[in-house]
Amino acid sequence: MNLSRKLFLSYLVVVLIGLAVLSAATAFVAPANFTDLMHHMRGRGADLMMGEHMTELDAEFDAAFRQSVNSALILAGITAILSAVGVSWFVSQQITRPIRSLVALSQQIAGGSYQQRLKLDTRDEFAELVESFNRMAESLASTEAMRVQLIGDVSHELKTPLAGIKGYMEGLQDGVLPATPETFELIHREADRLQRLVQDLQELSRTEAGRIALDIRPLRPEAIVNPVVERMQPQFADKSIRLTVNLSPDLPEVSADCDRSIQILTNLLGNALQYTPSGGRVELSVRRDHHNICLAVEDTGIGLSPEALPHVFQRFYRVDKSRSRGSGGTGIGLTVAKHLVEAQGGQIGAESSGLGKGSRFWFTLPTP
Ligand code: ADP
Repeated sequence: MNLSRKLFLSYLVVVLIGLAVLSAATAFVAPANFTDLMHHMRGRGADLMMGEHMTELDAEFDAAFRQSVNSALILAGITAILSAVGVSWFVSQQITRPIRSLVALSQQIAGGSYQQRLKLDTRDEFAELVESFNRMAESLASTEAMRVQLIGDVSHELKTPLAGIKGYMEGLQDGVLPATPETFELIHREADRLQRLVQDLQELSRTEAGRIALDIRPLRPEAIVNPVVERMQPQFADKSIRLTVNLSPDLPEVSADCDRSIQILTNLLGNALQYTPSGGRVELSVRRDHHNICLAVEDTGIGLSPEALPHVFQRFYRVDKSRSRGSGGTGIGLTVAKHLVEAQGGQIGAESSGLGKGSRFWFTLPTP
């Protein structure tokens, strides 16, 4: 029962009790009182001379009637007040009990304990409030778990290159490693990896906090595709991967941030380049999809297993950790790409028929 109905019923109960007591009093108490008084007065009436004392008798009848109605009203009033106290105590208990539990739970949450949940057996607004409170506690718990996980991931990622640099330095100090340009190059590469990780983390924190200023304006899809293809074509050629571009004719303009869209496409093409062996093929296609345009990068590379597929947009997720770390991958690129696509009102996704069967990464951008 909802709260307004409960309150209405509680008032109704008080009114009904008052009415019941009043009608019981008029039915039993008032007539009995009145009859007693009449009896007493009839005795006196015999002593009085009718006619001469008529006015005095009228006044006494009137007083007797008032007295019996008053005592009935007093009885009804006292009973109604007592029942009002009882009903309002009961209703206020129903209202304050969940509020007190919510206060206790919010204090626990404020103290950093997110595990406690409340349960209410009613089906009123309080049950709804308790349910949304529980949901809030749940999402705070998962945010907290993600924060802890993030700190763990970041320190793990920082540990590897730092350990590398420390190892090379110790090797140099002990004379185990020669002080050659090759050794310094190895140290430089580890420092590079650290720098890339820190840059990626900064970018991730900016996108996750929604602190990226987007310059969204109508632009031709070619303005996104052409610079990326021009810049990356030589890298594909170096690795003997054939990059083809397939633009549908009569593509409409998109409403997007040019630089950020270039960044997303560069990331998808960069991954296709990295995860496709020499001799493979990569196709970039752009076509209209209802009120969006869809840019898709399809490769004949290593593919993704059905287990890995749902996780590729999670931060720090890498299918083959050692391999992609070795090639400088931080597992952040696709997470940032997802934030950037969604901030522009688009969607991003990945498909693959399985390991060794290539993959297809796509994202959409809205048309104005
Ligand atoms: P990374 O910097 O490690 O490439 P991303 O966020 O860009 O990070 O990608 C996350 C993971 O998704 C990669 O480590 C890789 O395992 C997988 N992945 C991304 N693109 C492809 C692709 N085209 N083919 C196969 N696996 C891919």
